[in-house]
Order: sequence, then structure tokens, then C-alpha cells
Amino acid sequence: MIVLGAGPAGLLLGNLLLAAGVDCVVLERSAEADVRTRARAGFLAANTVRILDRHGLGDGLHRSGRTHSLCEFRTGDGRFRLDYGSLGRGERHTVYPQQELVGDLLTEYTGRGGRIRFGTEALAVRDADGVRPSVTVRGPDGRPGRWQGRYVAGCDGRHGAARRSLPPGAVRRHHRDHGISWLGLLAEAPPSLDAVGYAVHPAGFAGHMARTADITRYYLQCPRGTAPDDWSEDRIWAELELRMRGPLRRGALIQRTVVDLESDVLEPLRHGSLFLAGDAASLLSPSAAKGANLAVLEAELLARALTDDLLHGDSEGLDAYSARCLARIRRAQDFSQWMIRLLHDLPENSSQHHIRRPCLETLRTSRAEQDWFAEQYVGV
Ligand SMILES: Cc1cc2nc3c(=O)[nH]c(=O)nc-3n(C[C@H](O)[C@H](O)[C@H](O)COP(=O)(O)OP(=O)(O)OC[C@H]3O[C@@H](n4cnc5c(N)ncnc54)[C@H](O)[C@@H]3O)c2cc1C
Repeated sequence: MIVLGAGPAGLLLGNLLLAAGVDCVVLERSAEADVRTRARAGFLAANTVRILDRHGLGDGLHRSGRTHSLCEFRTGDGRFRLDYGSLGRGERHTVYPQQELVGDLLTEYTGRGGRIRFGTEALAVRDADGVRPSVTVRGPDGRPGRWQGRYVAGCDGRHGAARRSLPPGAVRRHHRDHGISWLGLLAEAPPSLDAVGYAVHPAGFAGHMARTADITRYYLQCPRGTAPDDWSEDRIWAELELRMRGPLRRGALIQRTVVDLESDVLEPLRHGSLFLAGDAASLLSPSAAKGANLAVLEAELLARALTDDLLHGDSEGLDAYSARCLARIRRAQDFSQWMIRLLHDLPENSSQHHIRRPCLETLRTSRAEQDWFAEQYVGV
């Protein structure tokens, strides 16, 4: 079994296959140090925590993560808070930086003797329509190589080799560009709010999310085409304080990324012996923080299906894998799009332009809407 990519999807899959006794190798393009320090997601859904606990992989997040259940909306009409932990199903997020989770999964995998090759870039998946697929690679020394197995799991993100290797017409691609971009920032500064902050402002959206006691993630809507270093630190903090409508605890900006809000979902998530999971299967905008959570859920489903097939000759799970994942992906995608409409002033000529204010007002006043929001917001 060959797993491409050592993100949350690939490493959870590797751990579960290893625990079940399935021989596998993980091929990862980056160096180990880069994999362990790549900061991205931070909000783990309750279901994600349950999955990790079920397999004995939740110690780190229980030790260092913090539960979280409060969000605050700030608009020209005022502010309101939702304690979503007391709404809907009463579930909470666990705030645990993605690089910590990836580090835990990696330590566990290698500690149990799992095979992983860092600095090994998958170039192409070959013969996926047969029963002996292979992966051509460029190794750390630049030398070409080839790995062969019964199945290949493409957990190598949206721009990885798995997607690239799909023959034309093998899958349908559902792509939507929302035309909105965010400057994603990590600040070496304590959180300024005890809540996730969503600010809607004529100058654009701004978001505030705690990561640790000393690190805060911020988002700033920016014009499409903005480069990460276009705005000075002073301008960024001034824009954040303007849009958040209040002073913030400032600090050095230690990471800047521009994210175009898009969704890009493939269907089905399988081509013969090649299966896709995580961002390789479905890239969603970070507006509802679903990507890492879907990656974990899909990895568990795929691990179980592969184990049933490889160890017990039962292929029902593999046959159903794509449909099971897509049902969850579509719900997450729908909610992510709802969040985009809620948080941005869409152009005046857009049919959605007038929807935002009534949507926020309903969320502020309707208990039924708040219960629905809470369920969608924490769930996958
Ligand atoms: C700024 C930002 C904030 C986010 N916030 C959240 C959040 O709060 N909550 C949430 O749930 N999600 C969030 N996400 C999304 C989340 O980070 C991703 O959905 C998640 O990382 C997907 O995991 P993955 O394992 O599928 O892919 P990745 O984490 O991208 O891992 C893929 C791995 O494959 C490797 N790789 C790529 N190409 C190759 C190749 N050719 N050969 C070998 N290896 C390869 C890469 O180096 C990488 O290690 C955020 C994303 C961004 C960008």
C-alpha cells in the first residue's frame, strides 16, 4: 500500500493501516522539519477528536489543546456572541494547531516502525486502472525511483501527483471560485478576544482565531492578486483594527499566506486502484474550517475499507468509499459557502448582495437558526 503525502490525511491513514497490520509506505515531498512546522488549521471538530481518541491518537490534543465554543460577530449594526457549545448538539471545537497534530501522528507512526520517505516527490501514479499500480518518484538525491503496491492513496493535496495522474474524463471536477481572497496571518501575539471573531466591514472581512496562548491567526479580505508581502505590518494592523472595530494585541507577523476562496471537489474519489482523501479529494475554502476535519474523517473511512479488502477480501467499503465521503463533503461545502455569503459584502450586482444582513439578523435572533449554525459549525 502506497500513501502519498504526510499531512493529516496521509499520516492518520498510515497509522491506522500500520495498526491493522497492512504493509504500507508514506512518500512525502518535503523534509521532516517542514512537515512538523507547517501551520495551517487549528480548529478540530468534536468528531475529529472522537476519531483520534478511538485509535489512541488523541493524547497530545487532550494535553495541550483547549476546548472552545464561543464566536462573536461584529458588523456595522452592532455585535453579538453565540456560545455554540450550548446550542445544537452541544459540541465544541478543540483548538490544537495542525502542525502539532501532524507531529503527534508522525511520532506515533515512526515510533511503531512505520515506513516513511521524506524528500521523496511522487511524480505520477501509473497503471491505476489495474491491480498493480505504481508511483514514480524523485528521491532526496534527485534520483528517479518507483514504488509498487496493491493500492495507492492520494493524500498529497490539491496540487499533488494523485490528481495530476487522473486520466482525462476519469472523474468530474466541481470547481467554484468565489472571487474573494484572504490574507492569512499568524501573529506572535496573544488572542485579543476570548471568541472566534468575525468582522464584516465595508473595507472587507476580518477574522480572529486563537491558536495558542501566544499565537493568533488573523484573516483580512484583500483584493484578488494581492501578494503576501504587499501590505506593511502597520497597514495590516491598522486594517485589522478598523475592521474588527477595536484595538488588538499586536505582535510580529510570523506567517503570511494568500488564500483564494475556492472549492474544488472531484467525483468519484477513486480511479481503479487509486483513492483520494483530504485536500486531494476536496479542497474547500477555510471559511468554515472544514478541510483538516474532512481529511481525518476520510482517512478513517479509507483505512477501514482498505483493511477489509486487503486482509479479509471484503471490498464493500472500498466500493462505497467515494459516495460516503462525498455526502459529507457536500454538506461541509454547502456550509462553507453559506459562511462566505454571511461574512462578505458581495458585489452590488450579485444576486446574493442583499442576503447578508438578513442572514446575520436571523442568526442573532432565532434560536432555531442558532441551533442549526452550531451543528454545522462544529460538525462534519
Ligand atoms: C491558512 C489556512 C487555514 C486553515 N484553517 C483550517 C481550520 O481551521 N480547520 C480546518 O479543518 N482546516 C483548515 N485549513 C485546511 C487544512 O489545513 C487542510 O484541509 C488540510 O491540511 C488537508 O490535509 P491533507 O492531509 O489532505 O493535505 P496537506 O495537509 O496539504 O498534506 C499534503 C502533504 O502532501 C505532500 N505532497 C504534496 N505533493 C506531493 C507529491 N507530489 N509527492 C509527495 N508528497 C506530496 C505535501 O508536502 C504535504 O505534506 C486551513 C488551510 C489553510 C491554507
